Amino acid sequence: MILKVALDTPLRRVFDYRLPEGAGEAGALRPGVRVRVPFGRRQLIGILVGIAEESALPAGRLRSADAFLDEQPLLEPPLLELLSWAADYYHHPIGEVFAAALPAALRKGAPARSAVDWWSVSEAGRNALASGRFRAPRQRALLAWLEQRGRATAEELAVEFKPAQWKALAARGLVDAVAEKPVVAPIEVRPSEVTLNEAQARCVAAVLGTLGTFAAHLVFGVTGSGKTEVYLRVIAEAVARGGQALVLVPEIALTPQLVERFRRRFGAGIVALHSGLTEAERRDAWRNAHDGQARIVIGTRSAVFTSLPHLALIVVDEEHDASYKQHEGFHYSARDLAVIRARDAGVPVVLGSATPSLETLDNANAGRYVRHDLPERPGAARPPTLSLIDLRSQAAEQGVSGAALEAMTRHLRAGGQVIVFLNRRGYAPSLFCTACGWVAPCAHCDARMTLHLRAGELRCHHCGARAKVPATCATCGQSVHAVGQGTERVEETLARLFPDAPLARLDRDVAAARGTVEAVLGRMASGEARILVGTQMLAKGHHFPDVTLVVILDADQGLFASDFRATERLAQTITQVAGRAGRAARPGEVLIQTQFPQHRLLNRLITEGYLGFAASALEERREASWPPYARLAVLRAEAKDSAQLDRYLRAAVEQARPLAAGVKLLGPASALMARRADHFRAHLLVEAAARGPLQRFLATWLPRVESLRGPPGLRWSIDVDPLEVE
Ligand code: ADP
Ligand code: ZN
Ligand code: ZN
Repeated sequence: MILKVALDTPLRRVFDYRLPEGAGEAGALRPGVRVRVPFGRRQLIGILVGIAEESALPAGRLRSADAFLDEQPLLEPPLLELLSWAADYYHHPIGEVFAAALPAALRKGAPARSAVDWWSVSEAGRNALASGRFRAPRQRALLAWLEQRGRATAEELAVEFKPAQWKALAARGLVDAVAEKPVVAPIEVRPSEVTLNEAQARCVAAVLGTLGTFAAHLVFGVTGSGKTEVYLRVIAEAVARGGQALVLVPEIALTPQLVERFRRRFGAGIVALHSGLTEAERRDAWRNAHDGQARIVIGTRSAVFTSLPHLALIVVDEEHDASYKQHEGFHYSARDLAVIRARDAGVPVVLGSATPSLETLDNANAGRYVRHDLPERPGAARPPTLSLIDLRSQAAEQGVSGAALEAMTRHLRAGGQVIVFLNRRGYAPSLFCTACGWVAPCAHCDARMTLHLRAGELRCHHCGARAKVPATCATCGQSVHAVGQGTERVEETLARLFPDAPLARLDRDVAAARGTVEAVLGRMASGEARILVGTQMLAKGHHFPDVTLVVILDADQGLFASDFRATERLAQTITQVAGRAGRAARPGEVLIQTQFPQHRLLNRLITEGYLGFAASALEERREASWPPYARLAVLRAEAKDSAQLDRYLRAAVEQARPLAAGVKLLGPASALMARRADHFRAHLLVEAAARGPLQRFLATWLPRVESLRGPPGLRWSIDVDPLEVE
């Protein structure tokens, strides 16, 4: 009997072990339990993924596992299946895939079930106290304290005493502990205050009609159209029938009010899983889901791997959001895995967005997903009007055109709030010498340093390098100038032009300080701030009813970027930012500054909205054979030496020659930024018409690539279904 164990190592394989000594019958063994095994000179904790009759290893080299850590599987069968599927599909080492699924505490061997130890004085302890012969004063004090109190948890004891003290007493049998399960507050489903409109009611009924079977639903509606209310209704029903629900959100920090809303509707019996949790909190949340006490789990990307034995429904909010794709290491898409998980578990999945990804729209068009449209916000008379400002024919003040300034003045006078969007943080994207043309470069990247005036620094947004702002040009000694605009500079310009309108700014620099996101959102919500300048972060979360004007300063960043998804992202951003604005009494206006007012996709977006844009964009994708009409994978590699990197990638291409039936291998090509953080970066692009050939090719090619000798410092990774191809 051989155990197949997934271990957290970069090797793309499972490891064989014999049963632990004295483990008895293996009949009760089930995959999904943790097992401690010797690995070289270390001990590792892995997951049992299978049991085999024999091993390819000679019997003499097989080692015995040390012990099983669980009696019941920590990962239930459908979850185990999902993880194995993900390791195969994304061609990532299976041990690392399992590691991504488990909180650190559980990977290190913490018990699978949560229990609190209640300490109390034993019979022997009471006798010892009564006899009066007990010497050690601190231990006697502890006994007396505990005797008087009845019982206490370790945390309560630790306020007065040291763990060594009660452990010493426990060793002598004078105190003992009884483990008791902490109780999570039971879920309560409180009634909603609103009556569903017709579109919502239809959508809720359709989703409920599929409880207990797999079905993928796309809920398409702008911010405020009532998507969350739909989620709450279907979750309430799934939970009432005894099930668990998993809700994925892009970023909890930006949507604290969503979790708040769930708590208001369902009481305390929900858990939130996100990067802000401590290790212990994450462990507890995971365990509560695993033992079925937590009925609703709201979490970011990795929450898709939460153990949910009674899973009945999955919701993916803002399904188009790029943060569902992991960008390093294990390149999975939580959105796509949610659909696979729902399919394996036989439950419905609900994808919601105002700007669905082209992949999801194509799935809906093809009938694989059911699309439900929610009309405009309840009560909103008209959607905002979008129009273009031609920057070629306009004087601009630090990037803000005269037409935009005029509109801002008009809206502010009328009592509206204004959002100004620019997806570039910092003061200016470059520092420039007009005398000799020198531009402050990053010493480690092929990139310019961004000027952060308030911090008095130049920063590289790619590698994080920082430098002092030079007073004069490094090569000719003449004075230097900030060129271009970042949010910091736009804030400065607008503060000068609108001295009476209090400003707020939201970008990664502002958000780095704790609590500032909430503070900024609060200033906008209360109406204290009149103008909000910000980046991509504005496209998420909040809806500001008093915002009547949105100005998008630079649409062109997205129009001609090399990436095939750039226009999709631009259209999503414009639509999402536009969706922050307006309500019934005050229709919204959206102004988009561009040098290319004739651009076809931009015009389709303006005149027909997101779906019109998407139809055109899908046509272009089909003509160019880009996803969703082709399947891609990117092999990215980086090394210290560019010639060696190139040789290595050429050798990888050679390995593909005899295999490449039905796939195209393109490259090597340098990354757009060929050097980052002192490493040269290049990639190979694998293209196929369908999943099958792509997967078969990768499965045979990657082991060959893996066996190539790489240059010093080589790092490579494979990204299946990449969001970016460079
Ligand atoms: P979304 O998730 O699409 O942004 P929400 O579900 O948050 O939309 O709804 C936006 C606002 O409208 C919320 O305050 C919500 O309580 C309210 N709302 C939703 N559905 C209705 C309805 N049928 N009638 C009245 N108000 C509603
Ligand atoms: Zn110079
Ligand atoms: Zn850099």
